[in-house]
Amino acid sequence: MTELLTDAHAAALDAADPLRDFRAEFHLPLHAGQPQAYFVGNSLGLQPKGARAMVDEVMTAWARDAVEGHFRGEAAWMPYHRLVRDGLARLVGALPSEVVAMNTLTVNLHLLLVSFYRPTRERPAILLEAGSFPSDRYALESQIRFHGYDPATDLIEVPPDEPNGTVSMAAIERAIGEHAGRLALVLWPGVQYRTGQAFDIAAITRLAHAAGAIAGFDLAHAVGNVPLALHDANADFAVWCHYKYVNAGPGAVAGAFVHARHGTTDRPRFAGWWGNREDVRFRMEPQFQPTLGAEGWQLSNPPILSLAPLRASLALFDRAGMSALRRKSEQLTGYLEALIDTALSDVLEVVTPRAPDQRGCQLSLRVRGGRARGRALFEYLANHGVLGDWREPDVIRIAPVPLYNRYADVLRFARCVQEWRDAQ
Ligand SMILES: *Cc1c(COP(=O)(O)O)cnc(C)c1O
Repeated sequence: MTELLTDAHAAALDAADPLRDFRAEFHLPLHAGQPQAYFVGNSLGLQPKGARAMVDEVMTAWARDAVEGHFRGEAAWMPYHRLVRDGLARLVGALPSEVVAMNTLTVNLHLLLVSFYRPTRERPAILLEAGSFPSDRYALESQIRFHGYDPATDLIEVPPDEPNGTVSMAAIERAIGEHAGRLALVLWPGVQYRTGQAFDIAAITRLAHAAGAIAGFDLAHAVGNVPLALHDANADFAVWCHYKYVNAGPGAVAGAFVHARHGTTDRPRFAGWWGNREDVRFRMEPQFQPTLGAEGWQLSNPPILSLAPLRASLALFDRAGMSALRRKSEQLTGYLEALIDTALSDVLEVVTPRAPDQRGCQLSLRVRGGRARGRALFEYLANHGVLGDWREPDVIRIAPVPLYNRYADVLRFARCVQEWRDAQ
């Protein structure tokens, strides 16, 4: 047994971890009376202990103040979305006026496509990655049809060009260059959900802009996972959800970014009363006067109960700091990678890029020997309290989350894979 695989080594790493106390801020699901090794924060983040108080506060205000709750107290519902605005802006590297918490991810994608996908006969095309998250593809395909164009020719999918199914910057550059004259929009993920590959948002934005196209991003797997600087990257728009790495709960209200240069009132959009200027909203006049910035894209008064947990979660991100989280994340995922390389390479193959700047915390692991073997390992892990998730046909995704996972959890995963292998 190498040093890496000893309890003492993992314990020393945990003891030296400056963020180790954040784990106690979360409810950890149990397996056989003990905390699970939970590696699916990329799917649903754990519940911050502070979330319940935020929800209770809303329930109490509703019972006590009823309609007055819209206007009363520090957490009045009318400006409630603003309680999360600054924290979100820090998380994605934006100005406060560039972000808004509203709706859910796919809804926000459609709303921003209405404003930013403005196809013409000469430029009808959208470029995205092949194998994108299905919802994104459905949204783009339906938008293309909605405008009377044909996805067969106008939805351009860039296939992976690297052996593990990842996409090189060179391939993205070639594809954008090849279609430059026809492109209306490039939509790209911040982190690819299946491979865990992270992309350079500023570089992709530059390429899209040089081709005369809008650059939009889906940050579902990037937000709360990798440091973001949307404003400086010059991205035109971005959307994301808050139930994955941001830990705001199932169906949590999602997020959107509109760069300040587009936050003017003349952008075409689908309008609703909550996007109307707050100072005139309640005059209930027929004329729509959009709020400047991302808030002008709001349609409805927000679901306060689904927004409340986000306050607790963002407070934790602010306390920990994204750069400290990233430092730990690189180490924690690097530890997982080192354990696989030293002890498990006969069972698992790392699909995710090896360079830390090309990935977040997730490693996608192909199980050698095919689907049946992969499923058997996956189920063995789950039955032993080690939870990853399964992607067809043979990949287990493991996402060590620096806010609540420990080095000991990662070691437990590796030990469990070894046990399974040795019993074969
Ligand atoms: C998680 C995820 C979604 C989910 O969409 P919802 O509208 O929140 O249901 C969409 N796109 C990507 C890339 C995702 O990772």
